[in-house]
Amino acid sequence: MYDVIVLGAGPSGLTAALYTARARLRTLVVTGPMIGGQIALTYQVDNYPGFPDGITGPELSDRFKAHAQRFGAEFLEADSTSVAFSSTPYRVSMGKKVLEARSVIVATGMTQRKLGVPGEDRLMGRGVFVCATCDAVLYEDKKVIVVGGGDSAIQEAIDLAKFASEVTIIHRRDEIRACRCLMDKAERDPKIKFLYNTAVTEILGDKRVQQVRIKDLKTGVDRRVDADGILIAVGWDPNTAIFGGQLDMDDDGYLKTEGVKTNKQGIYVVGDLVDREYRQVVTSCGSGCAAALEAIRWIEGQQGK
Ligand code: NAP
Repeated sequence: MYDVIVLGAGPSGLTAALYTARARLRTLVVTGPMIGGQIALTYQVDNYPGFPDGITGPELSDRFKAHAQRFGAEFLEADSTSVAFSSTPYRVSMGKKVLEARSVIVATGMTQRKLGVPGEDRLMGRGVFVCATCDAVLYEDKKVIVVGGGDSAIQEAIDLAKFASEVTIIHRRDEIRACRCLMDKAERDPKIKFLYNTAVTEILGDKRVQQVRIKDLKTGVDRRVDADGILIAVGWDPNTAIFGGQLDMDDDGYLKTEGVKTNKQGIYVVGDLVDREYRQVVTSCGSGCAAALEAIRWIEGQQGK
């Protein structure tokens, strides 16, 4: 039996594991699909303190993992497929394999919705990207498309326009759902253009994005436009399906929390799942640390009984 199982290996999960392992709790990280989570998809991380020259996302991920391993955290490269949280010890299953723990830290993160068009997966990280804060600097004087009509798309376009020569926001309707405050900013920016009632149907390029195929949804006219990059900002979905019926959840699929605490003692939630506003590596690490300290207290309290 483990003291702590951490589900997910992004910055929040790896920080939680570092803290619990260092407190000499037997800790297992069930990594899910990717060590590093979203930062593993980011070329350059320039805003994580302590790395004045920046660091690549994959290298930062490796360092987070090595740091947790140094204190004895174990890693299992698998996806958790179900959980049983009705009584302790809590159980986590990966297919037929079932593991038990006194405490569970949920760090399963979010999945960025995709467009689901040809070229999107193949060119991800090579012109297709998901975060202007992370990658805008790579698009200095380049032409970039942003897809989406929510706050994220408009905010990302504003951030990108500080670097890019031209940013075109492509939205499937003629009405933007982003707040007026962001729209006012975007409309005032001479580098930002809007293309409404338009769908992206294909992303083209050999080694990097070169063109995007778009369709006018009113006229049906199909054409290609040149682009050096395309940022997909069509919303996020929390990775919480396996917690249905086990933890309290809201209608959007977010776990109901008080800070990092769920409705079950000894089970905590960290990272983007508890942060709808900042979503930075450093804030994720912060919630991972907070949950680990709560887990340590909870386990010590149980042992004292
Ligand atoms: P969102 O509000 O869900 O918006 C997603 C956008 O993508 C919508 O405009 C939607 O179009 C479009 N879309 C969805 N699926 C699509 C598809 N398959 N093809 C093309 N377009 C598609 O998501 P978000 O913008 O990421 O925002 C998420 C939350 O974070 C919101 O609560 C938002 O307020 C908040 N947020 C706030 C800020 C800020 O305040 N600065 C910044 C970022 C995010 P339709 O409009 O037609 O549905």
